[in-house]
Amino acid sequence: MTQNMQGALIGCGFFAQNHMNAWGALDGAEIVAVCDLDLAKAKAMAARFGIARVYDSPEELFRNETLDFVDVVTTVDSHLPLVKLASSHAKTVICQKPFAETMADAQAMVDAAKDAGAHLIVHENFRWQKPFLDMKALIEEGVIGPPHFAHFSFRHGYDNYVNQPYLAEIERFAIMDVGLHLFDVARHFMGEAASLSCSTQSLNPAVRGEDAFTALMKMETGATCICDCSFYSKFSPEPFPNTAAVIEGSEGTLHLDRYNQLTVHSTSGAVTRNADAEVPDWGAKPWHCVQDSVMNFQRHAIDVMNGRAEPHPSGEDNLKTMTLALAAYDAAEQAKTVDIASCV
Ligand code: NAD
Repeated sequence: MTQNMQGALIGCGFFAQNHMNAWGALDGAEIVAVCDLDLAKAKAMAARFGIARVYDSPEELFRNETLDFVDVVTTVDSHLPLVKLASSHAKTVICQKPFAETMADAQAMVDAAKDAGAHLIVHENFRWQKPFLDMKALIEEGVIGPPHFAHFSFRHGYDNYVNQPYLAEIERFAIMDVGLHLFDVARHFMGEAASLSCSTQSLNPAVRGEDAFTALMKMETGATCICDCSFYSKFSPEPFPNTAAVIEGSEGTLHLDRYNQLTVHSTSGAVTRNADAEVPDWGAKPWHCVQDSVMNFQRHAIDVMNGRAEPHPSGEDNLKTMTLALAAYDAAEQAKTVDIASCV
C-alpha cells in the first residue's frame, strides 16, 4: 500500500473546515499538522479532526515538519510570505483564492514556486463544481458545437457577512471575491479575453466595497462573454451559493439555472437534468455543491502530487484570471474598455 502524501494546513478559519473534511474523506493524502496565528483556532481544528501537531507560527511548522504538500487557507494578505515559505519546504503548494491583490505579488509566488521546483495550484473550485464538470463534458462531446456566447451569473441575497465578516470591510470586494471565480470559469470554457468593460455597484450600505458588478468581454475567438455578480439580489428560493450559466454554440445551448437544473437545447428539442451535487457525508445544504467541488479539487491535487495531472489551475494560469479581475476595476473606474493584451 502506498503511503498517503503528508500535508499541513495553514489558516484554520471558516472555509478551512471544508478543506479538512475533504482531506479526511479522500484517499492518498492526509493533514498531519495545522497552523494558525490564533492558537485557539488551530487547537480547535486539531481537536475536531484528530490532528496531533499544532502550530501558531508557520516558521516553526516548517522547521519541525517534513511535508509533501501545504494547503494555504488564509486570507489574501498573507499569501505571498506563506507561499514563498511553503515552496521551499514542500513539492506541492495549494493556495486559496484570491491568489494575490497585485500582479507583482502573484508573479512573485509563481516565480518562488518555479525556482523551488514546486507545483503551485490555486484553489479555484468553481470549475470543479458538478454542473460545470457536466457542461464541460457536453461541450467536449460536441453537443452544442463551438461556443460563441456565454453568461456566468452569481446573484444572491444570502448573509455572507456572518461567516466571513471581512467581506464587508475590504475595499475591493465582489470582483476579487466571486469575480475571480467567474473569470476563471469564463476562461475555462471560452478561452482568453481580448477586451473587457465593466460596471460596478455598491448596493448594500453596510458593505464597504462594490457588492455587484457586470463585466462584458470580447474573447480572442470572437465570442462574447458576460460575468455578473451581486450580493444584494432577491430570489426565492435563495439560490446561494449557486452560479447560473448560459453557453450558446452553433448546434445548441446549455442553460444552467440558479438551482443547478441543466437544460440542453438542440435542434431536436430541450432536455433538462438535475446537475446538482450530492451532499457529502460531512456536508450540508446549501453549501453541498461547493463542498463537493472542494473534494473534486483536492482529488485533482492528489493526482498532481502523484504526477498523474498538471495543476488546474496553476499559479501561472491564475495570473490571467487575476489580470481580468484587476482590468475589471480599471475598466469600471475609468469607464473604458480595457485591451487585455496591454495589461500583460
Ligand atoms: P478566516 O478569516 O475565517 O480564516 C483565515 C484564518 O487564517 C484565520 O483564522 C487567521 O487567523 C489565519 N491566518 C491569517 N494569516 C495567517 C498566517 N500568516 N499564518 C497562519 N494563519 C494565518 O477566512 P476564510 O473565510 O476561511 O477564508 C480564507 C480564504 O478562503 C480566503 O482567501 C477566502 O477568499 C477563501 N474562500 C474561498 C472560498 C471558495 O469557495 N473557494 C469560500 C470561502 C472563502
